[in-house]
Amino acid sequence: MTAPPVDSVLETVGRTPLVSVHAAPDPVPVYAKLESFNPGASVKDRIGRYMLERMLERGALSPGGTVIEPTAGNTGIGIAVAAGQLDLEAVFVVPERFSVEKQQLMAALGAEVINTPTSEGMGGAIERAHELADELDNAVVPQQFANPLNTEAHYETTAPEVYGALDGEVGAVVAGCGTAGTLMGLARYARERHPETYIGAVEPEGSLYATTKGEDGEEGEYKTEGIGTHDPATNELFEPELVDEVLQVSDRDSHAELKRLAREEGHLVASSAGAASVAALRTAERIASGELDVPHDSVVTVFPDSSERYLSKGIYRSFEEWDG
Ligand code: PMP
Repeated sequence: MTAPPVDSVLETVGRTPLVSVHAAPDPVPVYAKLESFNPGASVKDRIGRYMLERMLERGALSPGGTVIEPTAGNTGIGIAVAAGQLDLEAVFVVPERFSVEKQQLMAALGAEVINTPTSEGMGGAIERAHELADELDNAVVPQQFANPLNTEAHYETTAPEVYGALDGEVGAVVAGCGTAGTLMGLARYARERHPETYIGAVEPEGSLYATTKGEDGEEGEYKTEGIGTHDPATNELFEPELVDEVLQVSDRDSHAELKRLAREEGHLVASSAGAASVAALRTAERIASGELDVPHDSVVTVFPDSSERYLSKGIYRSFEEWDG
């Protein structure tokens, strides 16, 4: 079916394809939501559009206003796409270590990019964003890490798309957690449909979401970009009670998988998708072996963005040469 023309790229956010991962074990299919099909090429276009439209509707922001967000990149691109079409200015505060491609795209969309030192981490970027907002009238910091609209965007769009595509036959949802908005929106929807749906939160080894489930979790550096946390207390959207298990994936396994996904399955996806795929496939194996009991024999995951955004970091080189 050919879709009719639409008025703006904003209307093309969402309705992304759901594609089988061929490496899944028989008889448990794994489906990945391909979020690089969004206009800004990542899952974060969903929250960019959703948060700004709701804030305008509710009067938290008025046309001509400024949106200031501390962001590692994809959220900036998503917000910049939406801001440009909704008569809003966008300013992003980005710690230096994040990929230059993302920062160039934010600027191309008309946004201003301000860098903060890598050593100050995301905390430094958040602080700077609030300082800037205090200096301006009609400015907001959506703060994706603490804004319930982030989770709501996925509850209202990503989740119904998945459930519609699979006629509700979802046994497990396994997805990476950065802010955790994606997984929490899916998890809330899933648990309302079937309380026994398995929910797996994916993070790199060295990240500390596992500690919220009473596990020891050893803090360490990781190269996988977009997921994980060094301070779960600042990731206010993560609801441990909605999660069955936190599934850790090593950088090495995520990297091998993103390369396999390109070579064998034609997916140009990045490291967080590699991690999600590894964890989803492991979950499918556990369902196939009878270790996990789920309402339907299927696993859904999310591939958040595209590898093209990380070529300058050597994403397709050897693991040692990959500069995460
Ligand atoms: N992967 C990538 C590449 C991302 O940019 C993000 C967002 N930080 C995620 C995964 C995780 O999504 P969420 O913030 O909804 O947990």
